Amino acid sequence: MFSDLVVNIAILISFTFIWLQLFQTKRLTIHSPLYIKIFDGIIAGILGIILMHYSIQVSDTTILDLRHLPVMIVAFFGGFVPTVISAALISMGRFVISFNYSSIISLIMMFVLAFGASYLSHKVRLSDWKKWSVLLLYSQFVYSLALYIVVADYHSVLDVAVFHIISTGIGGMLLFYFVLYVRKNSELFHQYKEGSQRDHLTGLYNVRSFDLYYNSMISKAIRKDEDCAMCLVDIDHFKQINDSYGHPAGDGVIKQVASLLIESTRDIDIVSRNGGEEFSVLLPGCSIERAEEVAERIRRTVENRTFLLPDFSELKITVSVGVASYEKLVELEDTDDLYEEADRALYKAKQDGRNRVILATEVRV
Ligand code: GH3
Ligand code: MG
Ligand code: MG
Repeated sequence: MFSDLVVNIAILISFTFIWLQLFQTKRLTIHSPLYIKIFDGIIAGILGIILMHYSIQVSDTTILDLRHLPVMIVAFFGGFVPTVISAALISMGRFVISFNYSSIISLIMMFVLAFGASYLSHKVRLSDWKKWSVLLLYSQFVYSLALYIVVADYHSVLDVAVFHIISTGIGGMLLFYFVLYVRKNSELFHQYKEGSQRDHLTGLYNVRSFDLYYNSMISKAIRKDEDCAMCLVDIDHFKQINDSYGHPAGDGVIKQVASLLIESTRDIDIVSRNGGEEFSVLLPGCSIERAEEVAERIRRTVENRTFLLPDFSELKITVSVGVASYEKLVELEDTDDLYEEADRALYKAKQDGRNRVILATEVRV
């Protein structure tokens, strides 16, 4: 009996581990898109069916299983849709085993369980563990009721119900601990990973990520023999903004320029903050002409935009942009450093009077 329980818990935990690994970045929540809820419902249903096949032999005539636990888990995290899907699948699985009075009662039990559990998980406002305990208690109540209806010998009901309570208690608590642990850890992992890639002030990529994306863009361009380009964007006379309006006002302007750069570029372009008020835009697959268009669009948008200061006064600023493309460097038989070339072009833009776009090729001639 207990060895059956151990086997069931082992199946539950190992299956759930693979399940959580598969959906690492698409965790089931009440706000998940419908397809995630459907997927999770199906997987919970499959797990329920597996558990039903590895049932626990309580006595010569009675078996029980933990099929209700996956249903409770999806009810807890995902609400109505995955819960009802998993209950429907498990009920179908039950009919494949046998079609009789007890399988019909089991069908009704599954749906009372599913509807009640998704209602409770939606309504109950308690801490995670307390809410989970409420769901487990509810599942015990429904199970005991179903057992009472199915089993003729009422004395044996008590024995089975007690063992069901023990196995659901142990299995349910272990499963929930495990699911919370894995979810929390992977959430933290993604949070730290994301945090280490991003600049705190603007949310753009930081220099470390810029290096990675820069290198991968160049090696892809070489491998696929295609073009790529980059822009370096620097705010003009930024020091004056800090000096006149204060550092927090300067920060506000940096943030607004960051959003403007995201607006003016494609999703595949990599926008980073490379230092104080200097930004870069990596443009995979772009020719020098396309890159110049992007740079000019950025320059013009900044020039036309009104920036807001913390005291709600308005400010006009400009940027200078240096542009370099990989193919042009190849043509010039100097593929050394795209970044260096863009930086040189930016320097020239500053020297020529700022608020302008300069191409790396112009610097050479
Ligand atoms: P140029 O037109 O030649 O680019 O002149 P500039 O004043 O923009 O350039 P400079 O390099 O002389 O000054 C940059 C200033 O940016 C100096 C520094 O105090 C300021 N700065 C750097 N990082 C930050 C930041 O995170 N927030 C704020 N508010 N200012 C910063
Ligand atoms: Mg500057
Ligand atoms: Mg600068």
